[in-house]
Amino acid sequence: MKGFRGVELYRLLWQASGDRQSAHGGQHDTGVYEGGDVGVLVVGSVALDSVKTPFGAVENVLGGSASYFSTAASFFTDVSLVGVVGEDFPSEALALFRAREINIDGLERAQGRTFRWAGEYTYDLNEAITLDTQLNVFEQFRPKLPAAYQDSPYVFLANIDPELQIEVLNQVKRPKFVACDTMNFWIQGKLEALRAVLQRVDLLTINESEARQLAREPNVVKAAGAILRMGPKALIIKRGEYGALMFNGSTMFFAPAYPLESVYDPTGAGDSFAGGFMGYLANVDDVSEEAMRQAIIMGSTMASFNVESFSLERLRALSYPEIRDRFRAFKGLVNFADLPETP
Ligand code: AMP
Repeated sequence: MKGFRGVELYRLLWQASGDRQSAHGGQHDTGVYEGGDVGVLVVGSVALDSVKTPFGAVENVLGGSASYFSTAASFFTDVSLVGVVGEDFPSEALALFRAREINIDGLERAQGRTFRWAGEYTYDLNEAITLDTQLNVFEQFRPKLPAAYQDSPYVFLANIDPELQIEVLNQVKRPKFVACDTMNFWIQGKLEALRAVLQRVDLLTINESEARQLAREPNVVKAAGAILRMGPKALIIKRGEYGALMFNGSTMFFAPAYPLESVYDPTGAGDSFAGGFMGYLANVDDVSEEAMRQAIIMGSTMASFNVESFSLERLRALSYPEIRDRFRAFKGLVNFADLPETP
């Protein structure tokens, strides 16, 4: 159990929503709900990224889907990370995981080079152009979950080879909620394995262009229907600076992205979104439609911070009051009065 997280988070949400009734967690004398530290397991890439945007460039900095996810989720719940790095992985990079109290017992150090990704963004910051992907140690990686990870109730299969996502799923016992992410690289290269993953998850998070590609359907609403028929009960389509759309059974929910003046590097926006989303669900230990709607706003909050600097620099420096204030700012952004009754 980590310090103030649960209590602070509930104070934030209690005040933001005014009338929240949670089926989980107990209410304290203070009127504050305390969340359970249920925990999230994540498998994904831990990478050395080289990224160029119109505002600057960095080389071989800490990145990877699991790194962004874990750091964002660690503000809300206990996080256990499964992945692999090579001999060249700088030990300073592990310090961030330790500082965020992320469990890295499942992060293997293997012979060879760390996974590397190089990408570029033009002035349209919504779409990364992949310049180079080197799987390196991920080519031989076979995840072995430490015993303590196997009971994780919340599981996130971050963007990585879908065959590895399946291997992790095979090792967890009856998780309560499983979500996954993917990208064009795997849609093109490992479609069959990806379809097998989709049959076993509760939620898929995916970029808009990749949703179209996966469904082979240009209309986003029709594409969502086609993807839901592939297996997941819910789907979140990420639309970069235009927000995120959730399809949950027959309901639809839209969250805007927070309009920012200072966007430097969109890398990891999707993963920090997923980290805020899953971390929040684990904190409240509730997967109702209402909780998922709050979780989307928390995901959008974490993504909005992440894009304010390169690599994980902004998340590293983030404080809880900043998260609380931006969550509330989101509420203000979409809050409007109903029309008066017509005579
Ligand atoms: P996003 O949240 O979509 O911006 O994810 C960016 C991160 O995904 C980068 O830090 C990359 O290291 C990582 N990444 C890029 N391509 C792949 C891939 N094919 N498999 C796993 N991770 C990747």
